[in-house]
Amino acid sequence: MTALATAAGAANLGQGFPDTDGPLWVREIARAAILDGANQYPPGRGIPELRSAIAAHQLRHYGITVDPESEVMVSAGATEALTATLLAFVGPGDEVVTLEPFYDSYAAAIAMSGAEHRTVPLRATADGFRLVEADLRAAMSARTRILLINSPHNPTGTVLRPDELRMIADAAQASDAIVVTDEVYEHLTFDGAVHTPLATLPGMAERTISISSAGKTFSLTGWKIGWATGPADLISHVLTVKQFLTYSGGAPLQPAIARALSDGDADIRELRDSLAERRDVLVAGLHTAGFPTSQTEGTYFVCADAKPFLTDATPDGDAFARALPELAGVACVPLSAFCAPGSEAARSVASWVRFTFVKDRSVLDTAIDRLRAFAAE
Ligand SMILES: *Cc1c(COP(=O)(O)O)cnc(C)c1O
Repeated sequence: MTALATAAGAANLGQGFPDTDGPLWVREIARAAILDGANQYPPGRGIPELRSAIAAHQLRHYGITVDPESEVMVSAGATEALTATLLAFVGPGDEVVTLEPFYDSYAAAIAMSGAEHRTVPLRATADGFRLVEADLRAAMSARTRILLINSPHNPTGTVLRPDELRMIADAAQASDAIVVTDEVYEHLTFDGAVHTPLATLPGMAERTISISSAGKTFSLTGWKIGWATGPADLISHVLTVKQFLTYSGGAPLQPAIARALSDGDADIRELRDSLAERRDVLVAGLHTAGFPTSQTEGTYFVCADAKPFLTDATPDGDAFARALPELAGVACVPLSAFCAPGSEAARSVASWVRFTFVKDRSVLDTAIDRLRAFAAE
């Protein structure tokens, strides 16, 4: 979509990366670290300073206690931690359950592991995309080894609520499954929506690997500094796989992220408030253009139903999103791109598209003007 957007000179609300780089003081620390000699392989688990900062972050925000020596692992972004975890615990004959729509790397990493990918559709309701217990039950089986949960959820903007988290915890315990959480948007929630890590639910810490990253929290997506926390025996298996993926990386970036996690709470609040404002601008603009939207409580994204604009030439969200850069000068992504081809979820979100609001205000305003002009044609 980014290639199509560039070719058409479109306002790119497709790919979710920020227009504005993260805090200057964090980038200065990384620059100083390069000049001060942090340029050789860091330890496979990550530098002690960053592991301590991650442990302190988990305690300060969520009351989770992890031992920085044995229960924390730094990774090349959340993506590497997710892939290493899947490769560590599943293979042919195992099943991995995820929500659907799902982040694209999940299907690829599950396929690489040889395991089977089962999904639980999130259902579009007046209250946003929500999890239904019967769907979760139907996806679980005796072969479910991992339940991989993303909240706040990309692409729907859903922040799972206490009753939904409890359903997941119950299902994992009943199937004796490991829960892997993708919490990269943990700090980007709006309207008082609260992100609760699954590891904080009763009995869950011992079976949960929590994964996050500095990319989204600090608008430093290209740094690829992520981490996994969880029980020492589980983390040691993940580390064994990670050893032969990257071994380690990001030497000068690790001390900068350690400081960001310790001293960056004001920067996080600023980003969250600014994102909430930009979400409001985009949602209002989409409404004036005639797009129904789904309630978004977190992440970088809002989902819109393109149904009012579908035609014979653009009969579904996929065709609509491909044509929109030419038709309107705006780029978005179809929700079907986050679904297994032909799945029930893919059919139910067939007319939906995702717009990102992690863009400068001027880009959002341009996109809204163009969508309104397109809608008026
Ligand atoms: C961006 C994103 C990731 C990737 O995180 P990195 O730290 O860049 O690897 C993982 N999961 C979701 C849901 C994302 O949106």
